[in-house]
Amino acid sequence: RQQIVKLTTGCAGFDAILGGGIETGMLTEVFGEFRSGKTQVCHTLAVTSQLPVEQGGAEGRVAWIDSEGTFRPERITKIAERFGLDAEQVLENIAHARAYNVEHQTELLVQAASMMVEARFALLIVDSVTALYRSEYQGRGQLADRQGHLCQFLRKLQRMADEFGIAVVYTNQVVATVDPMAVFRGGEDKKPIGGHIMAHASQTRLYLKKGKGQNRVAKIYDSPSMPDNIDAKFAITENGVSD
Ligand code: ADP
Ligand code: MG
Repeated sequence: RQQIVKLTTGCAGFDAILGGGIETGMLTEVFGEFRSGKTQVCHTLAVTSQLPVEQGGAEGRVAWIDSEGTFRPERITKIAERFGLDAEQVLENIAHARAYNVEHQTELLVQAASMMVEARFALLIVDSVTALYRSEYQGRGQLADRQGHLCQFLRKLQRMADEFGIAVVYTNQVVATVDPMAVFRGGEDKKPIGGHIMAHASQTRLYLKKGKGQNRVAKIYDSPSMPDNIDAKFAITENGVSD
């Protein structure tokens, strides 16, 4: 079994609530509202994962499955420059593919796995893991099918994390909780979609919230191994996630 490496998010406080960073061999879910910073976190990790281990990286390539069309090479360039990496090389090390439907998203995963046999990868990003499921399985009667297929997909991700020792990071959306009183009991008024299937698949769940301007908060959600309600402030800048 490969050694666990922790990838830096680019923000010391954010790394601290993760116990050092995003772990290889594990599935990490990043959820939050539109513009909360999920995709920017992915952009930053796609660069930091290429850093030497002593600098918070894992010296590997990145596979990026993009179901929302929000990958931006120019963001990668900026972040690479911040970390003193050769931007062209960093981009070359990111295998990006747009996913157009659930079947295609699954097919891309198989292709990513065959690339990982050939070269050393550090990170797999799926941004977003659930968007295509939401658009393809809309009816109430389709919920069981959706959950079944999603469960298979998440199992494939876990197998890849185990087999290749990569960190897997996927993003997810939120919906309003049905219980309007939840917030008064110290709970949240929003919850990630995907129900129990998603809850059990992700080893770490991160809830991102928007503050003023560049300010964001990351909160560890529902963790068995971490105290509840630990959070960290971070910022989204031109140069990616930072203090
Ligand atoms: P999500 O994926 O959660 O919908 P994003 O990760 O796309 O959200 O975050 C969008 C936010 O990131 C924008 O609202 C903006 O605040 C910030 N952002 C995006 N690009 C830049 C940039 N080049 N410079 C500074 N902030 C940026
Ligand atoms: Mg996004």
